[in-house]
Amino acid sequence: MAEKRDYYEVLGVQKGASDEEIKKAYRQSAKKYHPDLHPGDKQCEEKFKEVNEAYEVLSDKDKRARYDQFGHAGVDPNFGAGGAGGSSPFGQGIDLDDIFSSFFGGFGGRRSSNANAPMRGSDVEASVYITFEEAAKGCKKNISYNCVTTCGECHGTGAQAGSTPKTCSACGGSGRVTLNQRTPFGVVQTQRTCDACHGKGKIIDNPCRKCGGSGRQRKNKTVDVTIPAGIKDQQILNVGGRGNAGYNNGPAGDLHVYVNVRPHPIFERRGDDVWCDTPITFAQAALGAELVVPTLDGKVSYTIHEGTQPGDVFKLKGKGIPHLGGRGRGDQYVRITIEVPKNLSAKQKELIKELDSTTSEKNYAQRKSFFEKLKNLFNE
Ligand SMILES: [Zn+2]
Ligand SMILES: [Zn+2]
Repeated sequence: MAEKRDYYEVLGVQKGASDEEIKKAYRQSAKKYHPDLHPGDKQCEEKFKEVNEAYEVLSDKDKRARYDQFGHAGVDPNFGAGGAGGSSPFGQGIDLDDIFSSFFGGFGGRRSSNANAPMRGSDVEASVYITFEEAAKGCKKNISYNCVTTCGECHGTGAQAGSTPKTCSACGGSGRVTLNQRTPFGVVQTQRTCDACHGKGKIIDNPCRKCGGSGRQRKNKTVDVTIPAGIKDQQILNVGGRGNAGYNNGPAGDLHVYVNVRPHPIFERRGDDVWCDTPITFAQAALGAELVVPTLDGKVSYTIHEGTQPGDVFKLKGKGIPHLGGRGRGDQYVRITIEVPKNLSAKQKELIKELDSTTSEKNYAQRKSFFEKLKNLFNE
């Protein structure tokens, strides 16, 4: 595998860069290397991938912290994923119950007073990256994540096939024992977790080979998630019942999917409106022109009038982003910028001088009003 470049270096930012700086740097690089702008250029495509990968890590608080501490190894999908979990290109599901049970040899720390009460599984988290267009139009994503499931071998009993767990005789299956302690002030009763079964209420003589007796198994799972049109960056989708398995037939937890929307090289989102800057030439601005403007629905033409000024904004109604969960769409706003030509030939410069010498105050309304104000200011 080729040596990976430092993600900060890839984006051209300092190590302590703010989220805003990282976003800005990403937008610039993505613009520079966007495959749409360099069709067929393999090197640009590689660069674009590298920039996206760097952004995925540095824009995610957790991943960035791991990257800062451990480097590329820290954000490797297999990092810190113990057990049977496969590799996930997205975030790792972390299950406290699971960590707890690994400390106590597979006999989970039960928080319920009754060892046999059904208990809901905990929630897990995953993240997904989508493009600006996918957020605008909605999409389906197959999301891979790690979670704890009921062991398929023993169906959650923890006992090897052919055997069954016995009810603990020390606590009668409740998982807790009551101690009577004689003190000079009378008998004090205390309850604590049963030592014999570690609070589980059952004794397994012959633990399941697959899960070691915990009845639970860490697995890599995938789920198809429909991401609705209009979703915003950093929104969370809740997928019910796809989290960690429950205990004693309790329901599973939920899966929370963090949706990250990649910035677009040309479009910028403000609410449900889309903004885009369009550079035109001086001649187009002065004479008027028919422009081709990109929108989420493809290119549209728009006629600008004579004397269009830099900063003028025109609106394309209904060309914005659909309102999430509602009807209608935002609008698109196109802001005109005027590019002043550079590296002109002597002949071209001559032509511009000629133009300039033939224009007067009546051609420049803004300059005229500016100099009139100036005159009043200095009483000239
Ligand atoms: Zn098992
Ligand atoms: Zn017991």
